[in-house]
Amino acid sequence: MADACCTLHEAANRLPKFQHGYSTEDLLRNGIYIVFEKGETAHDNHRIVRVGTHTGQNNLGKRIYEHLYKSNKDRSIFRKHIGRCLLAEDPFLEQWNLDATTKVNRIRYKDIINFERQEEVEKEVTQYIADNFSFVVFEVGDKDARLDVEAALLSTITACRVCSPSKNWLGLQHQNPRIRQGLWNIQGLNKRILSTNEMNSLIEQYF
Ligand SMILES: [Zn+2]
Repeated sequence: MADACCTLHEAANRLPKFQHGYSTEDLLRNGIYIVFEKGETAHDNHRIVRVGTHTGQNNLGKRIYEHLYKSNKDRSIFRKHIGRCLLAEDPFLEQWNLDATTKVNRIRYKDIINFERQEEVEKEVTQYIADNFSFVVFEVGDKDARLDVEAALLSTITACRVCSPSKNWLGLQHQNPRIRQGLWNIQGLNKRILSTNEMNSLIEQYF
């Protein structure tokens, strides 16, 4: 699996990278995104720190925008995780973990959540993302195939004994040991692991 993971890293690092300031029009409409983070390396390349996709058709750009730049952590578990790490030593973490998406919850938490502070943390998350993340995308048109490919990539990376986070990786501040393994993902890490041949076929088909 280290070989399959190495093959994936080489192929993903060859795709055109997008960074803060990219134009959504340049993105594909359906597919998978792979995220890299400054300071993180594996297999002599930028280390993959997250894999993600979308369910709604033609929504890839919107989903990436929600994750990376839209100031609403309750629409993005990725933003929520980053905030949790930035707040690791901060008592506001407890409020950050509350979900204020629905109107009912906004009313319920109106005297509990300091919304001004929340907005500040949202900005810190956006800043961290802009300064540290880049991503690539590849096209997978079919929703079920997207979910399968996403899980296969995540599981193969998780099984790799070579990929590991740097000592300073922000994710090490997270309370969940699964994140501390090295990916900003919690779900879908223990599905089917691809062989090197299977990984090569996947790359040939989709990249
Ligand atoms: Zn690896």
